[in-house]
Amino acid sequence: MVRRTAAGHTRAVPELPEVETIRRQLVDRLTDRQILDAWGFNSPKFSAAPAAAGTTVTDVTRRGKYLLLPLRRDDAPPTQELIVHLGMTGRLAVTDRSIDRIEGEPHLRAWWCLGDGSVLTFHDVRRFGRIAVVDLGDHRSLPTLAALGPEPDSEEFTAEHLRRRVNAGSRRIKTVLLSQRVVAGVGNIYADEALWRAGVDPRARHLTRAAAARLRDAIRDVLSEGVDNGGTTLRDYVDADGSPGRNQHRLDCYGRAGRPCHRCGTELRGTVVDARSTSWCPDCQRRR
Ligand SMILES: [Zn+2]
Repeated sequence: MVRRTAAGHTRAVPELPEVETIRRQLVDRLTDRQILDAWGFNSPKFSAAPAAAGTTVTDVTRRGKYLLLPLRRDDAPPTQELIVHLGMTGRLAVTDRSIDRIEGEPHLRAWWCLGDGSVLTFHDVRRFGRIAVVDLGDHRSLPTLAALGPEPDSEEFTAEHLRRRVNAGSRRIKTVLLSQRVVAGVGNIYADEALWRAGVDPRARHLTRAAAARLRDAIRDVLSEGVDNGGTTLRDYVDADGSPGRNQHRLDCYGRAGRPCHRCGTELRGTVVDARSTSWCPDCQRRR
């Protein structure tokens, strides 16, 4: 039976590789830049943007899908940070256009005028993004960020950590990955890709030691390959230069329900796991 999921028609949100691609593009352009003036759209999600005015950006870092820009005042060490979450359709870019030409653009949610004459802009059609300015490291106002699990490439993200956290609960493995609490930065696309690569059924609620080791490695690999390919563009995502990613041409599983498995030729299945479209190979990804 061919059952196509809605995956090809839903919006994919930026995941770790997309956010990391943007971070790498912005770090040189923003580090040591003064923020002279700023504006935020009148909504609790964006109105904090002007609080960064009068500071200097000292770095562009990332945790999971969040961009974190430490801010200093005068020559003191950074005491605050500007936090940006792209949500579904958020786009960050640096432009040399004048603020007169930027203001009034559709879907503009915030801008920051920089000391070198350029402007950092944030556009967001669907308004699922988020901007915050907080004391450095104080993430209480952003519970998802505060509760993030380890970065996938960190020493803390071991196979044993993954196995224990999955097996301690009763949730499906895909749900655990999307929660961000066991590992940071994995969304729908890279979860399907990693589970396919590791041969783990997305509906499984238990991991063996061997499966956990394969899955840990697969998560690291699909994310780092996604970064190498400049992210995955299915509909909305573009990098800070406005260019789409290339990883969409490399997907083995996500959005491919009804098409043959790249490994064994079996028709991939599509279903919904906890409200997220999910593809998997019934032959390569058996419950275990
Ligand atoms: Zn297969």
